Amino acid sequence: MAHEHILIVEDEKKIAELLRDYLVGAGFEVSWHDSGGQVVKLVRKSPPTLILLDIMLPDMDGKDICREIRKFSNIPIMMITAKAEEVDRLVGLELGADDYICKPFSPREVVARVKAVLRRIASPGKVPDNLVFGDLTVDESAHRASVGKEILDLTPSEFNLLKVLMTHPDRVFTRSELMDKVQGYQFEGYDRTIDTHIKNLRKKISEKLPDRKIIRTVYGVGYKLRFE
Ligand code: CA
Repeated sequence: MAHEHILIVEDEKKIAELLRDYLVGAGFEVSWHDSGGQVVKLVRKSPPTLILLDIMLPDMDGKDICREIRKFSNIPIMMITAKAEEVDRLVGLELGADDYICKPFSPREVVARVKAVLRRIASPGKVPDNLVFGDLTVDESAHRASVGKEILDLTPSEFNLLKVLMTHPDRVFTRSELMDKVQGYQFEGYDRTIDTHIKNLRKKISEKLPDRKIIRTVYGVGYKLRFE
């Protein structure tokens, strides 16, 4: 994993140092910013491999940073939030963050989740190069999803979620299965992460196909693609 560069944006020095030590220990290059003001510019100029982004920051908060970065990049973003900020976590995911970690966290778990996010981008499982479902196409090698001729601008999590659903279009996937396949790990009580990714994905698909609901909710179970 040479030259994988993690950018930490966190104003609490102790937390940043803890994360940096563990990530450096795991072989990553790490840089750290303690305020939000310059981050968007910096990411635009030299994009890191992944960003660990605190929400409460001086100058510009993590949500605004995430929103701005998503205008030009699908680089993986993991939000760092305080335990009491559940609403913020969900808002972060709605803005297109791939994952979030809650303070207080175990640095080992953070490293494992960073690796999981990077792994699923590097080798998201063996599937055929092109998956097709109705007007939807997922081109695995180009890492591109499209509706007809129009490209869907998806985050890595949304892309992987769509890919998993399209691999077995006749199957119902439970939330924890999707969590496992999409995020690379399972975590009790994180079901709403998948719901939020699904919501974002539906929104992006419906912008191209306004009259059709492709992803069906199977109540009490999970999600599946809809056969028309
Ligand atoms: Ca903070």
